[in-house]
Amino acid sequence: MLNSLKGLLLTLRIAPRKPVTAEYPKKHLPIQDSYMGFPVLTWDSRIGEPYCTGCMVCVRMCPTNCMSALMKDNPLNKEGKSPRKKIIEAFEINYGRCILCGICEEVCAFDAITMSHQHELGSMARNGRRVDLPRLLELGKLYQDESGWRPPTEIEKEKQAALKTVQASAAAGAIPPPVVQPTSPPQAGP
Ligand code: SF4
Ligand code: SF4
Repeated sequence: MLNSLKGLLLTLRIAPRKPVTAEYPKKHLPIQDSYMGFPVLTWDSRIGEPYCTGCMVCVRMCPTNCMSALMKDNPLNKEGKSPRKKIIEAFEINYGRCILCGICEEVCAFDAITMSHQHELGSMARNGRRVDLPRLLELGKLYQDESGWRPPTEIEKEKQAALKTVQASAAAGAIPPPVVQPTSPPQAGP
């Protein structure tokens, strides 16, 4: 009897709370910035071409072998408009086999692929989840616009430059060097 009353009180206390779940697919909860959806290819709007050079590193490292890529000589490089000698000609990811591990993004040295917020790309067609280069770039541009994506290597360079400035200021005595806290002696065991 007492336990039933306790249960009833708990129910009454929780009932007025706002639900934290949503009835999918009628309603969608907001996606967190850190959410890792399907990988997409990024677009270098300064030059007007993909970042991807077709180097195949991601293709070789993908644990599910769901990617393929083909490179070609970059015509914009010959015209002196792009630093990329090679550029991607064809790219495909089979989202049906992708496990969203993020390895492709990790290993790419050209900022060319990123994990987006895409997650609703289901299809009833047999090969309906194979995504080609134009669609990957389209999804990439969408993600770049909505998230304010910037090339990770650029962000890293800025961090390194800021660190060097702080270190140079500290060396010149403009700011006090960081205080190193003494480490506490190890605790004796029981
Ligand atoms: S996405 Fe990156 S690692 Fe993959 S082929 Fe393109 S440049 Fe190479
Ligand atoms: S996220 Fe993982 S499984 Fe998916 S394409 Fe990239 S490396 Fe392959």
